[in-house]
Amino acid sequence: MTIFFFLHIIIMRSDILNDDILRATKKVVVDAGHGGTDPGAINGNVYEKDFNLEVSNYIYNRLKELGVPVYITRDTDETFDRNERVRRILNAFGNSSDVVVLSNHINAGGGDSHCVTNV
Ligand SMILES: [Zn+2]
Repeated sequence: MTIFFFLHIIIMRSDILNDDILRATKKVVVDAGHGGTDPGAINGNVYEKDFNLEVSNYIYNRLKELGVPVYITRDTDETFDRNERVRRILNAFGNSSDVVVLSNHINAGGGDSHCVTNV
């Protein structure tokens, strides 16, 4: 939850995203981790995939409002494998140095990390 609030504050304070940062960061891909049959971390009836989707949709919509070219890998509770995730990320804006990929996860402690790498 700390991560969510941190991201929320940064995105809400558009004065922090000044012109220099917007010019330097040309394109953003927002990746909502997990989804569909892959719930990620589970605590009772709370699924990581749902938090990831909510945070990612918020970031996507806020960046779009600010005029930043932005793409989201999923905006619904959708199942796809890691290869499809990487394909969507690369197809959004290519693989140049002006593309930032935000892969959102809210993991439970003690598990292995499972991030998208080699993008
Ligand atoms: Zn995760």
